[in-house]
Amino acid sequence: MEDKILDAQYRAELKNKKRIVIKVGTSSLIHKETGGLDLIKVEHLVRELTDLRNKGKDVILVTSGAIGVGRKAAGLQEKPERVPLKQACAAIGQARLMMIYQKFFAEYNQVAAQILMTRNTMLNARNRRNAQNTFEELMALGAIPIVNANDSISTFEILHGDNDTLSAVVASLVGADLLILLSDINGLYTDNPNTNPNAKFVPFVDTLDGELMGMGKDAVSSVGTGGMATKLLAAELATSAGADMVIANGRNMDVIHKIMDGQPYGTFFCSNEDDALELREFLKEHFHE
Ligand code: GLU
Repeated sequence: MEDKILDAQYRAELKNKKRIVIKVGTSSLIHKETGGLDLIKVEHLVRELTDLRNKGKDVILVTSGAIGVGRKAAGLQEKPERVPLKQACAAIGQARLMMIYQKFFAEYNQVAAQILMTRNTMLNARNRRNAQNTFEELMALGAIPIVNANDSISTFEILHGDNDTLSAVVASLVGADLLILLSDINGLYTDNPNTNPNAKFVPFVDTLDGELMGMGKDAVSSVGTGGMATKLLAAELATSAGADMVIANGRNMDVIHKIMDGQPYGTFFCSNEDDALELREFLKEHFHE
């Protein structure tokens, strides 16, 4: 009961958030049956993001989809397995993905920019500062940075990385006060809801403890690369960097303004600045080569 009241109170504050990172997974952007881009959803996503900008928010999009879009463009029937082929698909797909985002953003007179990051962007202090400066300048210009991993030049991300973690890294880098992860799952469950009918939905997480970190680790998304475990890791990083985080289903992009309006969608994770993790140490620990 107490959690319910807290949840509603925290969610009512979401409309006041100033700097928001939104991550969309491949599963929220493509038609599962064909692998083709769901243009209606991409268009809707762009409209939601531009509307947030129009409300005066700083908005950053972390998007997956480069490899998937590249595979389709290159006419590959099978999902690429070899890393160099994935890299080639990423190079083709990233450009095409940006072209489509740019087209839709242009329809709303919204300037968008591209930032491709690698693990070294974070580990190297100078690179990190450079990235931070670029983000700040872009946001001062009113642009929406569109971020992905630089998969075509760095294989580490393809082998170990996922955009759930990347979005938390970005949230921490830019000092965001909210991270929204959109995926093909509704949020956190006590167990995998596809295999355990008794799995319960968890709407609100005050503190991420060991028990919670173990929850839902088998609930893997069907198309995306990151399962629930990577989302909880992202929650650990983002909340300790001072951002609230919401994991919600990106089935309908309406969910973005509904979350911002304080409606009870997805799982809400409270920020916990007292528990600040050192970003570089975190990355070294979880993403060592
Ligand atoms: N960077 C990959 C891509 O754009 C996606 C990684 C992920 O899905 O987390 O295809």
